Amino acid sequence: MVDHRRLGRELELFHADPLSGAGLPIWLPAGAAARHSVEEYVRELERQAGYQHVYSPPLGKRELFELSGHLGYFADDMFPVLRLSADDEFVLRPALCPHHALVYRARGRSYRELPLRIAELGGMYRPERSGVLGGLSRVRAISLNDAHNFCAVEQVGAEVAEILDLIRTAHAALGVRPAGFRLSLRGPGEKYVGDDEMWNRAENLLREALSGLPYVEAAGEAAFYGPKIDIQILDGAGRESTISTIQLDFDKPARFDLSYTDSSGGRSRPVMVHRSLVGSMERLFAYLIEVHSGAFPAWYAPVQVQVLPVGPEQFDAAEAFRRDCVRAGLRAELVGDGSLGARVRVAAQRRVPYAAVLGAREVAAGQVALRLRDGRAVEPMAAPDALRMIAGIVAAHSAELLP
Ligand SMILES: [Zn+2]
Repeated sequence: MVDHRRLGRELELFHADPLSGAGLPIWLPAGAAARHSVEEYVRELERQAGYQHVYSPPLGKRELFELSGHLGYFADDMFPVLRLSADDEFVLRPALCPHHALVYRARGRSYRELPLRIAELGGMYRPERSGVLGGLSRVRAISLNDAHNFCAVEQVGAEVAEILDLIRTAHAALGVRPAGFRLSLRGPGEKYVGDDEMWNRAENLLREALSGLPYVEAAGEAAFYGPKIDIQILDGAGRESTISTIQLDFDKPARFDLSYTDSSGGRSRPVMVHRSLVGSMERLFAYLIEVHSGAFPAWYAPVQVQVLPVGPEQFDAAEAFRRDCVRAGLRAELVGDGSLGARVRVAAQRRVPYAAVLGAREVAAGQVALRLRDGRAVEPMAAPDALRMIAGIVAAHSAELLP
């Protein structure tokens, strides 16, 4: 595997500027286009699965993070408190859960609404030490694919199973190949909330969800509020990190005094399931760049079609085809300068999945000749058919370049 930092520079996906700050990379247009497609895909996958999306601010009042337990248990992993005045202090949030707990209790809830799945692709901050920062794999400003599923205790098993299914679907579309499942448990020497009964109950629920799957147990890797299932990946250097996670939390619902009206008219406390299907956009792309060597599946390739007129006489027809591609929702560019061979080579080096060549013969017949980035050449086909084929591959989130 190639280091994503080098490829990120070569393919102009992101830019690390000392003036922006260590761990604060900037997404360049090509990287942003790919990320945008991935975000849209995940949002739609979640929407289909009954998630509701919200926006919440990346900072909040100190009292919110005192209530959530973050300042008591997690302060070492947070930026120092921002102080406007003695009674006006703010925290750059290290997690989205406190805001989503506020979404839950913005009004009364009934058992009929559960599981209530609140999702957000949201910003959060961690003061990683500058020595460990590099590229996208460890950053200080994190864009997390996050959700909090509030459910009744008896719904937890089915909810976790459904989340595991969604994770598998997302991994298959993106080309993520997990290295394994991990059950992350409490360990000695760390601070954890809650009592043994709560932890045992949560652990047993997760063990059940994992039954039949190969997994390892890792002491000391739990969140401070509960155990979790982590899905691990390996980077190019063989280092392991977590890409997807499912965490059970009995603690925050109590801290925020969350409740719902149950079917007998009484008040019950929901369980909070924290989950991320694909982790942060930063770590996800660090991984995707390496595992695909920059050659993303067509649906999130920064440029999907490079249109290449053989000579100036084909320029108008090429431009018309490019416009048709863009109108069909594809990202297409026209490159007219240089020899055709050189342009096909550059398109492949830039990992553009499809080069559409238009020579005199193709234009006369209303056709284009597709050249794939892996060197394959497709027989010339009618321009609308080529466009329909590519748009179909993109819409299907296929990993293949041909049907
Ligand atoms: Zn959370």
